[in-house]
Amino acid sequence: MFVAFCVILATLVLQGLSLPALIRRLGVVDDGLASVEERTARLKANEAALAYLAEVDSLFPPEIVKRLRVEYDDRIRQLEVCASGSEDRDNRLITPSYQRLQQAALDVERRTIIQLRDEYVINGTKMWATNGEHSTVVATLVKTDPDARPPHRGMSCILAEKQYPGFTSSRRIEKLGYKGVETTELVFDNNRQPAANLLGEVEGQGFKQMMAAIEVGRVNVAARGVGVAQRAFELSIAYAQVRHAFGVPIAEHEAIQFKLADMATKIQAARLLTNFAARKKDAGERADVECGMAKLFASETCFEVVSEALRVHGGYGFSKEYDVERLYRDAPLLIIGEGTNEIQRLIIARGLLERHRITG
Ligand SMILES: Cc1cc2nc3c(=O)[nH]c(=O)nc-3n(C[C@H](O)[C@H](O)[C@H](O)COP(=O)(O)OP(=O)(O)OC[C@H]3O[C@@H](n4cnc5c(N)ncnc54)[C@H](O)[C@@H]3O)c2cc1C
Repeated sequence: MFVAFCVILATLVLQGLSLPALIRRLGVVDDGLASVEERTARLKANEAALAYLAEVDSLFPPEIVKRLRVEYDDRIRQLEVCASGSEDRDNRLITPSYQRLQQAALDVERRTIIQLRDEYVINGTKMWATNGEHSTVVATLVKTDPDARPPHRGMSCILAEKQYPGFTSSRRIEKLGYKGVETTELVFDNNRQPAANLLGEVEGQGFKQMMAAIEVGRVNVAARGVGVAQRAFELSIAYAQVRHAFGVPIAEHEAIQFKLADMATKIQAARLLTNFAARKKDAGERADVECGMAKLFASETCFEVVSEALRVHGGYGFSKEYDVERLYRDAPLLIIGEGTNEIQRLIIARGLLERHRITG
């Protein structure tokens, strides 16, 4: 029904990289998922890679993973093909997936109908659903108790299945980048989901479940930022050696050398910050500040680096014939997704104030 590549990654994420054998086979033992993400983002013709990454972005609470009967072998094969950077990657690997949504505005009503079959009746719309058209099941945050105080205690996560009438993906949203995966609006119109689709079996846990996933999502975005930036750097340093201006390769101009040096230095700093956050999270330690820092720094670095890469490429940077143009369009989403960078700064500052609170 729904495919699994994302499930593997979700499993990796949420259960602390719980497939060490797979990670070893991919040769990324130390940094686990963050490395897989970075490598994937660097793939050459990588629209498919970005689509994958969007799926990776679907991070599930562990209960979801438990509910799936994952057959690992096929998924490991797919992941290996993807992580190997092979040119033979197949767009069919862009698969349906669970899709996590951060949606708290849907109204929901629980009804007991005559056959004594409990159901949730969901009404509302949700913009920006990555993979919304292909998903068959969508983890949807809904208000099950609108009167709860504080309000987040009244939210629950329902694994809404498209097989039940009244749940559709109404339209695709045209976007600047990330075109390898669709982003859609979802509509719930008196959609009835069985009560068994409530995640965790107890209402009111939805916000907590989503928040548990989102920190990992931030490391995920950070690693994507490192991967996209690294690709932009690699393209730039190669181009700078073959493009001649004023009789020499542009790599011999100090202005270009400084750009390359700054790009590589910032990317390495972003990578270290990302891996630090990933390890902390993996060790089960509190990592809100670290994940926020990694996401903030790596995505801003990516944005800067792709911009510099475009300059290094001169007019060709503006041409669709060169990959750097696509990287330039893909980078901004990393600043927005998994909580904008303005929000990351708030999270970091709050965490720091909490950790450094002075008494008396
Ligand atoms: C391509 C794409 C795919 C997406 N896929 C998904 C998905 O699959 N699932 C999903 O749930 N969501 C998805 N999103 C939504 C994404 O998570 C949100 O767009 C993002 O969190 C920002 O929310 P917003 O668009 O409502 O911006 P807003 O919250 O309206 O923010 C607008 C501006 O105000 C700033 N701002 C807002 N509040 C504050 C504050 N308190 N303090 C300071 N500044 C503030 C923001 O930083 C931003 O600069 C996707 C978005 C895009 C573009």
